[in-house]
Amino acid sequence: MVNGKPVINHKNCNECGNCISDCPVQAIAGIYPKRTIIQNELVVQSQKIPTVKELLILYKKGVKTIVGEKSSLIEWWKEPIDEANDLLKQLNEAPFSISVKSIEEERYFSRRELFSLWKNESKSAMKQAAPAKWRFNQNDLHLPKYYRDYQFARITINSEKCMLCTACQKLCQNKCLNITEGHFSLLSQGCSSCQLCVDICPEKAIIVENQIAKAEETLLPIYQKVCTVCQKTYSTLREHDEKCVACRKQESFKKSKEGNHYAF
Ligand code: SF4
Ligand code: SF4
Repeated sequence: MVNGKPVINHKNCNECGNCISDCPVQAIAGIYPKRTIIQNELVVQSQKIPTVKELLILYKKGVKTIVGEKSSLIEWWKEPIDEANDLLKQLNEAPFSISVKSIEEERYFSRRELFSLWKNESKSAMKQAAPAKWRFNQNDLHLPKYYRDYQFARITINSEKCMLCTACQKLCQNKCLNITEGHFSLLSQGCSSCQLCVDICPEKAIIVENQIAKAEETLLPIYQKVCTVCQKTYSTLREHDEKCVACRKQESFKKSKEGNHYAF
């Protein structure tokens, strides 16, 4: 960050694509690195180690096996593979199977060989190996889109603090926070853990934690009340509330002026 703005040092960038994958709001545009996938098997290459998120998305697209020319190459990718397998367990899925193949037996590892494989193999094999199916841009990297039955984050609202100002609802691009007349609905399934709602909430009423669980909607009831001070109707998450936000703020301000540090 330079003067509050992100700057890319192109001299140092090796095009690994990790920033594209990790940005929770897909703010970094670009094409993700090419992978070699032959008949639904992901081939380990020495450079550009995939992220856990990429592995989990490839898994849902049909890649269940990771193959390497040598076990030493697979060691390079061990960390993200282990982490992905750990998450797959929590998602009730089988882990990736790992296979070490010799370069003499399999013609997998140079681009020239790959090209000749595509040229010589049948049409259906070509279709399976076609890069378009396996290449992502930043818009393809929203993990909850691929695992609809699970949520990767848990959103919690502190009903005592929330004023129903709707700032978080307006900001959330995944439509996880919805305030209607009767409820404040929290749809954690689509949440990318970007934390933008946490940052914008003026009352510090939101917590977003990374946590895998079965997808569920949380409904917080909204009560319609008449303020005992100004007599206006207002909405609140507090069942036993008596004063509207404006009157409470005013009261708090008055007390702080009188020297009482009253927090509400
Ligand atoms: S959680 Fe915060 S930002 Fe969202 S409605 Fe409540 S007070 Fe406003
Ligand atoms: S609920 Fe908050 S953390 Fe989750 S996607 Fe929306 S803005 Fe981001």
